[in-house]
Amino acid sequence: MPFEMIKDFAETGVMPNTAELISNGIFRKMNSSIPEVSSVAWSSIITGQNPGRHGIFGFMDLFDNSYKIKFPNFNDLKAEPFWCRWEGKSVIINVPSTYPVREMNGVHISGFVSIDIRKSVHPGFLIPKLEELDYRLDVDSQKAHKDLGLFMKDLDQTLSSRIKAYRYLWDYIDWQVFMLTFTGTDRLMHFLWSAYEDENHQYHDLFLDHFRRIDEVIGEIAGNIGDEDLLVVLSDHGFERLDYDVYISYLLAQKRFLQFKKGPDISLENISDGTKAFVLDPARIYLNLKGKFPCGAVDSSERESLLCRLENLFNSLEIDGRKVIRDIYRKEQLYSGPYLENAPDLVLVGAKGFNLKASVKADRLTDKAIFSGKHTQDSAFLLVKGIVDMSIVPEMPAVWDVKDIVEKSKGPA
Ligand SMILES: [Zn+2]
Repeated sequence: MPFEMIKDFAETGVMPNTAELISNGIFRKMNSSIPEVSSVAWSSIITGQNPGRHGIFGFMDLFDNSYKIKFPNFNDLKAEPFWCRWEGKSVIINVPSTYPVREMNGVHISGFVSIDIRKSVHPGFLIPKLEELDYRLDVDSQKAHKDLGLFMKDLDQTLSSRIKAYRYLWDYIDWQVFMLTFTGTDRLMHFLWSAYEDENHQYHDLFLDHFRRIDEVIGEIAGNIGDEDLLVVLSDHGFERLDYDVYISYLLAQKRFLQFKKGPDISLENISDGTKAFVLDPARIYLNLKGKFPCGAVDSSERESLLCRLENLFNSLEIDGRKVIRDIYRKEQLYSGPYLENAPDLVLVGAKGFNLKASVKADRLTDKAIFSGKHTQDSAFLLVKGIVDMSIVPEMPAVWDVKDIVEKSKGPA
């Protein structure tokens, strides 16, 4: 949920409980991770580490010395989540990229992508109770492609089941830390950002209703905690209207940085040794380095000049007279730690409205997809209420200087 939207909903009465928290707490605009995808952002939120230390750089990654794709899960997270780093009892519900669950003190129900309920709940004896509450691991987004009405219904039922589970565990477990994550908001904004902007949209009221329901839970929680407690509400990234999908692979192929072996199979696993660079979602650029990849074609001595050529290409990219790429970062600017080696060489952040994608099969540079909303890097929010050392949540500029954050995070942690 973006900072501007929660501010809007607080001011216009859609989220009155949140408005009250804002007036009594600390409310800040916050930057997301780079790239601004849930797997990376939540991995940083739960470990307090950058991807160079927790090892999660995106929703997909490559096997070593290969172009073969893997989908990292909780077993690939290289840093410990906070609930494993203290003795207290925690309840953790629906945090993305925490599947499969493992032994911990308390209750852990994993979030997106959770495949099998038996590996999604610790301790396992809670599964029958969750089934009784009709608990759903995730919204069925496939429904949105067929029928938005059915999708909205599914979204509502999934939220209801999540609320029932949270209420049950809130009372049943003697916890010290409770973490509840709503992910339906992300699906809703991808498919129906237009319903937020357009008051006459068929689903405008249902869109607002979803946030009204979440606000009720926020109010309930705020009312159930004591003066000695700390409440943190945050989003893992912001959202905005999606104007264009832009396929970076297509651009690289057009400019001959990316080449495939002859034949019908257009896939990363079929790139040829003419390839200088390739991309993984959303816009992580990897140089095809000799010694690192099977068809490596780039000497380390070439690295600097190649990076400069790619930066020039991305900097000059325009669609309909609008600059497509807002920022280009080299990996050393963003990440530090033992897993820096696995990081992409460049990461691009799209300008307003431009949704960057890899998709090697794309046959055009730009397209308009079914989604009407896209993630943003610079408009997440943080809201804190309770006993807290105010100096740790300083007034921040609207856009943080990423280099500054990296500098500050290079401490012993
Ligand atoms: Zn999303």
